[in-house]
Amino acid sequence: MKKLAFFDTKPYDRESFDRLNGGRYDIRYFETRLTAAALPLADGCDAACAFVNAEIDRAVVEGLVARGIKVLAMRCAGYNNVDFKAAWDAGLTVVRVPAYSPYAVAEHAAALLLSLVRHIHRAAARTRDFNFSLAGLTGFDLHGKTAGIVGTGKIGRIFAGICQGFGMRVLAYDAFPNPATGLEYVDLGRLWAESDVVSLHCPLLPETRHIVDAASLARMKRGVVLVNTSRGGLVDSDALLAALRDGAVGAAGLDVYEEESDWFYEDRSDVTRQNKTLSLLVSLPNVIVTSHQAFLTREALANIASTTFANLDAYFSGGPLENEICYRCSGAARPVNADCPRRAASGRCRPPRPRAAGTV
Ligand code: NAD
Repeated sequence: MKKLAFFDTKPYDRESFDRLNGGRYDIRYFETRLTAAALPLADGCDAACAFVNAEIDRAVVEGLVARGIKVLAMRCAGYNNVDFKAAWDAGLTVVRVPAYSPYAVAEHAAALLLSLVRHIHRAAARTRDFNFSLAGLTGFDLHGKTAGIVGTGKIGRIFAGICQGFGMRVLAYDAFPNPATGLEYVDLGRLWAESDVVSLHCPLLPETRHIVDAASLARMKRGVVLVNTSRGGLVDSDALLAALRDGAVGAAGLDVYEEESDWFYEDRSDVTRQNKTLSLLVSLPNVIVTSHQAFLTREALANIASTTFANLDAYFSGGPLENEICYRCSGAARPVNADCPRRAASGRCRPPRPRAAGTV
């Protein structure tokens, strides 16, 4: 039976993976993230499984391969945290779960938006204290307002549909506009200028890093609501904080944060060292921060487990790897696995075998 070193385990991961394993894999669950220091835990394993905030750098890649592990199953969609060039050089195949529930993420974005515009988080805190005053809780109708959606892939399109369901006008921006969506595509300048709500659904790439910065915030409507369920690095957090404190941004719903890997997914309430920007953001009444939980539904967890097992089954049986990404695929502006120039008829990107020690 193949042995799987499973890093960054949470109780909810274990429940879905144990339920769907069907005795196929000997899963060794570790609470620690996959780091160079944690590599010895993977000794004797055939595959490793990691999550969204692991830093899969060259040292980790080479350490896995040195232990005989040739496949890394990322149980997430985003992959900006993987050094794909190192993986290619070392001969490590990387697979991922490209979609587990776009509904989960889009609905979480909608939950953040509704909570912010109707002050639900503040109302809930008040009534818990038996304070039933409505002062300061005036919201606004979403109906008739404009939502600007950046990235119209699986999640962005569903979020667009939710906004349309509220009676909102939807403007869209995508580096690769898709006419089949029927959405009104505009340039970013127009999207910033005309939107009452801006929601980010594009991947974190060099060209999208800080797509929301002081300059783009200055072009947005005063009082705009910003929702980010995509990746923290899309937003310059200090510029957002300044815009929130100045009133230029009316509210922000953040499921992701650019330095989240030091904080998210764990109870850090006893840590005395603080991240100043994050501390200030969470203290604002018009900001809701959730801990990268948009994916966390029963349906998504089941899909993550079943797709990860399917990826590993395909790898070990020599079949096509539908969800493989390599440094060429990942370097493209969007995942184009099927078009990877290195992909052969086998359906694999086929990383080269690692060089034997001492050879050039
Ligand atoms: P997707 O690949 O289906 O869609 C991404 C879209 O972004 C595509 O339409 C693509 O063309 C577009 N895009 C690429 N480069 C762009 C650019 N420079 N500017 C604007 N658009 C660009 O991905 P998806 O499944 O819709 O996921 C979107 C993002 O959501 C992921 O990249 C991931 O970072 C994030 N995500 C977050 C969670 C969470 O729990 N918070 C869960 C899953 C995914």
